[in-house]
Amino acid sequence: MMDDGSATQEDSRKTVWKSGPILGIESSCDETAAAVLGSNGAVLSNVVSSQQDIHEKFGGVVPELAARAHLGTIDLVVNRALEEAHLAKGDLQAIAVTQGPGLAGALLVGVNYAKALSYGLGIPLMGINHLQGHIASAWLADPTFPLPCIVLVVSGGHTHLYRREINGECLLLGRTRDDAAGEAFDKGAQMLGLGYPGGPAIDRLARAGDPQAIPFPRFHRTRNSLEFSFSGLKTSLLYKLRGMAAPLKPEQIADLAAGYQESIVQVLVTKVLAALKQESLCAIAVVGGVSANSRLRAVLRERVERGQIRLSLPPMEFCTDNAAMIASAGRQRLMRGEPCSSDFDIDPMDSLVTVGVASQITKGCPERKEKSHL
Ligand code: ADP
Ligand code: MG
Repeated sequence: MMDDGSATQEDSRKTVWKSGPILGIESSCDETAAAVLGSNGAVLSNVVSSQQDIHEKFGGVVPELAARAHLGTIDLVVNRALEEAHLAKGDLQAIAVTQGPGLAGALLVGVNYAKALSYGLGIPLMGINHLQGHIASAWLADPTFPLPCIVLVVSGGHTHLYRREINGECLLLGRTRDDAAGEAFDKGAQMLGLGYPGGPAIDRLARAGDPQAIPFPRFHRTRNSLEFSFSGLKTSLLYKLRGMAAPLKPEQIADLAAGYQESIVQVLVTKVLAALKQESLCAIAVVGGVSANSRLRAVLRERVERGQIRLSLPPMEFCTDNAAMIASAGRQRLMRGEPCSSDFDIDPMDSLVTVGVASQITKGCPERKEKSHL
């Protein structure tokens, strides 16, 4: 390479964001997704292509099939997102793509596509942690949601409680020691013969059941602990099923679904409120696929009404994996003035565990900040 300064110029061109539309790309698991945010952060398009049909017969996601399906779909999905946003590729000013955690082969498809596109267009690229994406979804519908706050990420792979600071830093307060809440829904649904993904199926069926008819244990680990455990709940369902005469009547399945769901919901709500109290805060965001659960949403709304607590529950389309949340996390980074670099690799194990620095932590619940600091 000639040392004429051109390389430096090109690098700086790629790391500077001219305020404008941002493309988000998500391919960490079994959804190929692309979304465009406008200059003001509004969601102009949010396209998700699900691979549910491909994986359904296996009862879970098959990594190799997921990667191949992403490869076949990603260009179509990105073009659709641009079309729906009434924009051309040349209008984009930045790209944000999921870097991890997730399936290695699946992540590679999104990251390599995004790298090629950003290089071709000469615009900045950011690798985004998938959990930061879920967290950012709380601000998609409510840009004035205050910081610091408590965030519960509940999805197929994660049940993590964070304290999010004004500077965007996330301090891990507690996490599951075994299964994630979404995993508990999926495995429970499988035992009840409801198919995959199990969360929506249990949610639907539980509406016809009585949550008190067949009570399930609620595992809190120790008193005041912010750690979760759902594997015992699964075992409890297994033993209940063994003790019941087959075939089960539809009412029995509905009662089992309702009782099982109630246990997960009550544990999640108890711990998120305990975290709020521990940190003396007054704002809660609940994000990730399980935040779509209708009973969880109802109980959370009911409980926050009793106190002066602000709650952010993303609209349904932003709960499960999507790319608007990835673009939103990227936008938050750009707004904070953080540097961009396309010099990153996939990070399948990236776990978003940040240890907070005490001096940076804002104590208590200051005045309501109507303006977001993101
Ligand atoms: P991940 O990022 O870990 O792939 P997602 O954020 O896409 O997960 O969420 C998927 C999980 O959310 C699945 O475990 C699914 O069962 C669960 N889920 C989706 N909708 C609901 C619902 N209505 N009730 C409970 N769980 C749900
Ligand atoms: Mg997810």
